[in-house]
Amino acid sequence: MRVAIDGPGGAGKTSVARAVAGNLGLECLDTGAMYRAVAAAVLRRGLDPADGPAVAAVAREVVGTIEVTEGAVRVETLDVTTEIRGTAVTETVSTVAANPEVRVAMVQRQQAWAGERHGCVMEGRDITTVVLPDAEVRVYLHAAAAVRARRRSGESGASEAAVQAALSERDHRDSTRAHAPLRLAEGVREIDTTDRSVADVVGEIMQMIEEISRRDLL
Ligand code: C5P
Repeated sequence: MRVAIDGPGGAGKTSVARAVAGNLGLECLDTGAMYRAVAAAVLRRGLDPADGPAVAAVAREVVGTIEVTEGAVRVETLDVTTEIRGTAVTETVSTVAANPEVRVAMVQRQQAWAGERHGCVMEGRDITTVVLPDAEVRVYLHAAAAVRARRRSGESGASEAAVQAALSERDHRDSTRAHAPLRLAEGVREIDTTDRSVADVVGEIMQMIEEISRRDLL
């Protein structure tokens, strides 16, 4: 059973993905943390995130060293768990992620990770469309912009207005880029999490999984 979850920032992907993975006894991969780890490596080297060839070279160099677990994110053995959630990385990551060569390196690693497991939960922006387009369960989470900003502001301590402006700029870049933009693809279940709890959304996904398992048994 592979569960693919996409959606913009603050839609609830990480909390929902972790809970679904816990219920199924599967591992969960936060692919946004991988792009953030590359952005952190680019910044550490003092490179311009818009310098395509240089950024692509860094991505190829570090991709094999990225480790993402629930507790920590590492790149080149460095613990970047806190750094990747900071303003510098958050402002840079969508430029780095728009680089097609960076995406090729990331997608290969993510597909290999999924291939090594009998099932998994993966969340990001292009999981339902590019990384695992044939996943048994494909979900697109979204929520009203103000609610997404409130959730992220609660996590970071920054003001809601500032978070909302930054989120909407990042969403715009992620959904208008030429390669693997964030989009709701055909056949993907759309769930609006605006007025719903994590448990409620997880319940809906678990029901989808039960229905698919039952259908496959027939
Ligand atoms: O999910 P999170 O907000 O941590 O993702 C950070 C950024 O990484 C996104 O804004 C997007 O630019 C990029 N990303 C991506 N494809 C993914 C996951 C994240 O382009 N599968």
